Amino acid sequence: SRALSELELPEVVAEAPANIAEIVASMHDVVATRLAHPRRFRASQLKALERMLEAHEQDFLDALADDLGKSPVEARMTEVDMVRAEIDHAQLHLSEWMESKAVKVPLALQPAAAKIEPQPLGVVLIIGAWNYPLQLVLAPLVASIAAGNVTVIKPSELAPSTSALLGRLIPQFMDHRACAVIQGGASTSTHLLEQHFDHIFYTGGERVGKIVARAAAEQLTPVTLELGGKSPAVVMDSSSSAVARRLVFGKFMNAGQTCVAPDYVLAVGDTDQNLEKQLGKVITAFYGKNPMASRDYGRIVNTAHFDRLVACLDDGQIVVGGGHDRDTLKIEPTVIINVDPDSPLMREEIFGPILPIVAVDSFDAAVRFINARPNPLVAYLFSENPRLQSSFGDQVRAGAIVHNAPSLHLAVPGLPFGGVGASGMGAYHGRHGFERLSQMRAVMGKTTVIDTLKAVYPPYTWAKAKL
Ligand code: NAD
Repeated sequence: SRALSELELPEVVAEAPANIAEIVASMHDVVATRLAHPRRFRASQLKALERMLEAHEQDFLDALADDLGKSPVEARMTEVDMVRAEIDHAQLHLSEWMESKAVKVPLALQPAAAKIEPQPLGVVLIIGAWNYPLQLVLAPLVASIAAGNVTVIKPSELAPSTSALLGRLIPQFMDHRACAVIQGGASTSTHLLEQHFDHIFYTGGERVGKIVARAAAEQLTPVTLELGGKSPAVVMDSSSSAVARRLVFGKFMNAGQTCVAPDYVLAVGDTDQNLEKQLGKVITAFYGKNPMASRDYGRIVNTAHFDRLVACLDDGQIVVGGGHDRDTLKIEPTVIINVDPDSPLMREEIFGPILPIVAVDSFDAAVRFINARPNPLVAYLFSENPRLQSSFGDQVRAGAIVHNAPSLHLAVPGLPFGGVGASGMGAYHGRHGFERLSQMRAVMGKTTVIDTLKAVYPPYTWAKAKL
């Protein structure tokens, strides 16, 4: 079969293009050439990505504004700069990550040498979600390049401008043999999932996550599933005005369409009324009296999600916001109290700018509330009390435990980012992404010049049995 560089990579691939199988097959051919293995090649591709972001930052910001109404500042901070930070970190640590590590051999087996040697997996498929359509394909791509793989990326069709831009620019900047972009929706993904990959890295919702895991199981392909869920924020005390500011920042960024946004607040004791007032004030301070007109406030991705969210507004009593406009797909930053715990608002991930405050009596009641539900991607605790912080970590199972600062853990490349249980499997960012997309191969060697193993060979005489 032909090398990928000879294939014409289409700019926009129609639904389930016939050449998907051909593209993936040529990627496997590239793996066999070991092209992507050397450190120099990996570094060159990281550099290429860096150059692409540098030369086309404005185009990416425009595409993100087009897809989600993201403000340029927010888009730079949460998408472009996040990817840049991953690239910088990988460039700095690549040699160290690639080094093999010696492992101690037990005395009885010596003389011998043992080491762990990171090896590329082969062809990695990255399927991204629409809410951070740049970051969610490029950050895993950084890990995949660093690990020496060749990569196929499938950006979300629900962010078409970003998807088209990636489809146009990646082939311009990166080696065609190292990375291919395939665009399209569910049927394209279905077709992709019929191909063989050495790892599938999926970001998105649970329903499709199961489809991906099932397809991967057919071929025993390992998967990383970066899913979502309802990430709770327990607020013990809202007397510091920073609490409301941080909640509003984390929740209403990207109009609430953030996998690590605080989904709902569990307000302990009498913090809830003070909190309502504080949140209202901060929303006005951040986005003005008419947030839907603010340039700093995004929109809902499409009418289906808009209608789903507007229906949720009836699930409780609105104390802040509630306004919405189907023409512009905007929903005001909204705070809701007295919510029915069995309503869709409290059963499903909200993924929009609606923040329910649920009053609970105590810290223990908050922990019970969380533990009665599927494991979230993050559990937030707002408290300065170290005893409560440690007890929260001991009792709550979540992809991450974060105190007093929503979403910040994502910006620390040294921290693994991923879920547990219903919020996903596997983690990435920095070294964790490198290791996730590598085989940490065991290598051992022992000389035959002197045979120190004689003592364990059959026949198992009486003397050997006493050993
Ligand atoms: P989405 O609709 O963009 O779907 C994700 C990807 O799955 C897309 O590329 C889509 O084309 C593909 N897809 C759709 N149908 C498919 C099918 N039948 N077979 C195979 N692939 C298919 O995104 P979404 O699912 O709406 O994403 C939102 C969810 O993602 C939320 O639950 C959110 O919390 C989660 N999320 C998680 C993270 C994380 O890093 N953990 C980040 C962002 C979003």
